[in-house]
Amino acid sequence: MRSLTTDVLVIGGGITGAGVAWDASLRGLDVILVERLDLAEGTSGRFHGLLHSGARYVVKDPPAARECIAESRILKRIAAVCVEDTGGLFVTTPWDDPEYADRFASACGQTGVDCEEIPAAQALLQEPRLNPSITRAFRAPDANIDIWKAVWAMARGAEERGARVLPYHEVTAIRRDGDQVTGAHVRDVRGDEGLEIEAQVTVNASGAWAGRIATLAGIEGVRVFPGRGIMIAMNHRLVNTVINRCQMPSDGDILVPVRTVSVIGTTDEHTDDPDDQTVAQSEVDQMLDEGEKLVPGFRQARALRVWTGVRPLFEDAKAGGTATRDVTRAHALLDHRTRDGVGGFVTITGGKATTYRLMAEETVDAVCDILGRSVPCSTATQPLPGSEPGENYRLGERLARKEQHLRDEQVICECELVSRDQLEQTLRRSGSANLDDIRRRLRLGMGPCQGGFCIYRAIGIMHAQGGVSAEQADASLLEFLQERWKGVWPILHGDQLRQMRFDEWVFHGILDVDRLPTGPLAGGSDPEVAAR
Ligand SMILES: Cc1cc2nc3c(=O)[nH]c(=O)nc-3n(C[C@H](O)[C@H](O)[C@H](O)COP(=O)(O)OP(=O)(O)OC[C@H]3O[C@@H](n4cnc5c(N)ncnc54)[C@H](O)[C@@H]3O)c2cc1C
Repeated sequence: MRSLTTDVLVIGGGITGAGVAWDASLRGLDVILVERLDLAEGTSGRFHGLLHSGARYVVKDPPAARECIAESRILKRIAAVCVEDTGGLFVTTPWDDPEYADRFASACGQTGVDCEEIPAAQALLQEPRLNPSITRAFRAPDANIDIWKAVWAMARGAEERGARVLPYHEVTAIRRDGDQVTGAHVRDVRGDEGLEIEAQVTVNASGAWAGRIATLAGIEGVRVFPGRGIMIAMNHRLVNTVINRCQMPSDGDILVPVRTVSVIGTTDEHTDDPDDQTVAQSEVDQMLDEGEKLVPGFRQARALRVWTGVRPLFEDAKAGGTATRDVTRAHALLDHRTRDGVGGFVTITGGKATTYRLMAEETVDAVCDILGRSVPCSTATQPLPGSEPGENYRLGERLARKEQHLRDEQVICECELVSRDQLEQTLRRSGSANLDDIRRRLRLGMGPCQGGFCIYRAIGIMHAQGGVSAEQADASLLEFLQERWKGVWPILHGDQLRQMRFDEWVFHGILDVDRLPTGPLAGGSDPEVAAR
């Protein structure tokens, strides 16, 4: 069995784990990060896309609001290219308590969240599809964030500083030597091989799975409530600003413009299983009905895809009950040396994607404390790789860039404007034959056609590049189509049904996908990592 040693082992490759790995490597620590799936395939890659200004929490959870405004200001600078600074509107619809708006405005003032009331007519001028019956409107500095870009930028940045990032490596046991955690036993999921990792400090950054990892270390009582929520992507940017209902946080009250689509969400249901990806038809209907309240005619837009994420909600000793919207959104850092008498082991869970940097900073401070090192955190000022110019993403930017090279650059995905060159580079770099991995890196197949036009081009290019046989390429295509199908079938009606029938004709008529000769998928781990 292979074995590796390191200063810090990070378990979980979501935004929190990637943030910890990036922060620790900037402080000169040797880091290994392990993730049982692809990076950001847990809750991070299944979230709503909102970089919270904190305005949503000003009345209900003022400390969370303060953290969000401070962190979102930092992220707009250091993760500039991942953020589209759309701005946000909080609007009072006929279904909202009219008294809430005044409490909201005064709580924004108390928590330092910038907010400005504008006439409802001005909000309607800015967002013509909004419900014309809104009575009040407030501007707030909400934005959207591309989490995959941020996670991969931090992982690559950490690797450049010597970190080892191992996707598809699952922790199956935590090593203990008396009252000390000394690392973990890991299984390479794709190669089905064991790997022993010895670490001075082990960080449990496994989000909604944190209680399970703590149990592997023999520590009970780390209670993380999984709060399941669904979101639906609609095929247009129905709005260009993040729209929130001006009310106490509730289900289906936020519409986020994300790249070429807009996403309505979410619900919040208690579940016992962090891997629960149930989508109830009643939840889909509820989201579409709530969307209708914000944007009349919402149901006539085409629903592209529905997905589920599971919030890691840490329950502290004081909290009771199982109403997950009432459990705090704050994060929890547990040093198990002081909490449970188990050294070399730290858990970081809860919080939000928006506050990941702060969570990572506090975690690595605790790690440095355990290691007896004193190195200050620099992540509040050090840009993520790729964000050095400090310019936020703009929707029109890719099209403008593309138009300059239209004659010499082949476009593979028209919806997301992915070029052949980008695709070939990503295929080479990832070494993965899994089109779903490529989707997360490039957003390939995530636009209105959901892969109807680009996926068979991409698979052809993957095969032409070498490395995968025709049978493996076929298997990869089928796996991708099955994954897409899971997100599509709960919303199949109207125009979306027509689009899917069309895609089906493409795949059956041109490729006869049902009868493709397939072979086992090629290994998907990063060649740079596999070489280590
Ligand atoms: C429906 C929904 C909408 C949300 N919307 C927003 C939003 O708009 N804005 C916002 O700021 N926040 C939002 N959040 C919250 C945010 O998404 C999460 O707080 C954040 O993504 C958690 O990141 P994480 O890295 O801690 O957890 P994760 O991303 O879940 O990462 C933990 C990782 O640990 C891995 N893991 C588990 N077990 C093992 C093991 N044995 N070995 C190795 N790896 C393991 C998992 O596979 C997972 O990838 C939303 C959450 C939900 C559920």
